[in-house]
Amino acid sequence: MQPQFYNIINDELRGSEKKHNVQDPRTEEDLWDCPIATTQDFEDAVEAAQKAFPAWARTTVPERQAALVKLAEILEKHSDELTEILMKETGKSQLMASIDIKGSIAQCMYYSKTGLEDELQYEDENTKVIATHAPLGVVAAICPWNFPLLLSNIKVVSSLVTGNCVIVKPSPFTPHAVMKWIELSRGVLPPGVMQVLNGGADLGQLMTVHPGIAKISFTGTIATGKRVMASCAKTLKKVTLELAGNDACIVCPDADLDKIIPSVASGGFFNAGQVCVASKRIYVHESIYDEFLDRLVKEVERTYSIQEDGHAFSLFGPCSNKMQFDVVKGIIEDCKRNGYDVVTGGQTTQVTQKGFWLPPTIVSKPPEDSMLVREEQFGPVLPIMSWSDEEDVIKRSNLANAGLGASIYSTDLKQAERIARRLEAGGVWINQAERPNMGAFFSGMKDSGFGGEMGKQGLLSYSYTQCLHFAKK
Ligand code: NAD
Repeated sequence: MQPQFYNIINDELRGSEKKHNVQDPRTEEDLWDCPIATTQDFEDAVEAAQKAFPAWARTTVPERQAALVKLAEILEKHSDELTEILMKETGKSQLMASIDIKGSIAQCMYYSKTGLEDELQYEDENTKVIATHAPLGVVAAICPWNFPLLLSNIKVVSSLVTGNCVIVKPSPFTPHAVMKWIELSRGVLPPGVMQVLNGGADLGQLMTVHPGIAKISFTGTIATGKRVMASCAKTLKKVTLELAGNDACIVCPDADLDKIIPSVASGGFFNAGQVCVASKRIYVHESIYDEFLDRLVKEVERTYSIQEDGHAFSLFGPCSNKMQFDVVKGIIEDCKRNGYDVVTGGQTTQVTQKGFWLPPTIVSKPPEDSMLVREEQFGPVLPIMSWSDEEDVIKRSNLANAGLGASIYSTDLKQAERIARRLEAGGVWINQAERPNMGAFFSGMKDSGFGGEMGKQGLLSYSYTQCLHFAKK
């Protein structure tokens, strides 16, 4: 039987006359219809959330944390069903789809033990100041398509544990798993506390201007992020922007190639490069460049090959939608048109019978001002450049759109740390590929974002910090 999907408003299932469907990126088959929320649906959801907010805001942190454990149990219980849905809508293998679910469970469990407590901020003989953290109101979570559940879930659990209500808008490319998960979670929270609406840019835009929404937590491209922020200014909403990155990965001359080649390959090609903190530009010291390139190409050809049949353990997959396929295809074609050295991959037509597949592609030494180096590719094509001078490689790494992550490989930890501290990126990974840690604050510098999420610090942006000043005399 075909699965059915609904907007969830005030704990009720709501269909819609207007629907859209998503294509399976592996096969281009049409998947299931998904109702598109109307403006009235959105108004109803805001009203339900505002009605639920005063009571939910008064719950204690442990009460909210108990609800997160229940949400984790629901994810666990329905993980097979949700994995199937995720595989279809994203084109991921079973292994990759299960990462979305296991990661979401881990986030629920992390915040079931981590919350914001009152803290003593200052004390002397005259006064004592206690900081307390009040929720904001109704949060709208506007989400991307690359890890649909995980990246929605972080916004949901951060909202809930801080006492906010949340309305989730998944990406219209991947709405199904998120909608099913919130449908399955009905009953865990009071009606109106957690809701979901399917829609595209129009609905997102409505969320950014509605006076009943207190905060927008947005993950997506830099261009959309700028529009969101401008729009939120009209009602002075709180805003968190988790935007694109163009991560530099610096390989030092003393790096242990046996150890690092699989890691660099995974940094660039895990989930076919569709990771916000994928390594997107590799800078290898010139003394080891040729050997590095040769070994990286072999590793990538061995581990990240196209598996049309949806091999369960593949870390590679198609581009998740036609729009992204066209973007990445355009970048590869630009490399070929300009005569850059494509050392593996590079085919953009008839790669497979059907689907949005592009082969893992490596380009040697494209110029710094090429499209591939300057723009975020968000797909399976990776430029490998060389460097010789530390100052120079730091300068080349620090692009305005490269503020999210970076990585450095070196056996000299002092050198690695020295470089890391000069990189203008919210996270720098040393001797490992960029992988967010739910206990660590995740944020972008420069064009890569505004504020951040995850870890205890991530909860501060879902709260007002209120100071209570007690006179002691
Ligand atoms: P996108 O900006 O196209 O869309 C993101 C969301 O915004 C979608 O839900 C979309 O419907 C909505 N939207 C579109 N226009 C809007 C508007 N005017 N107002 C409000 N909402 C609007 O991004 P995408 O293609 O879905 O995601 C891929 C991008 O996200 C990549 O650049 C990637 O690097 C980035 N990303 C960042 C992180 C991070 O944590 N920093 C994580 C994952 C992905």
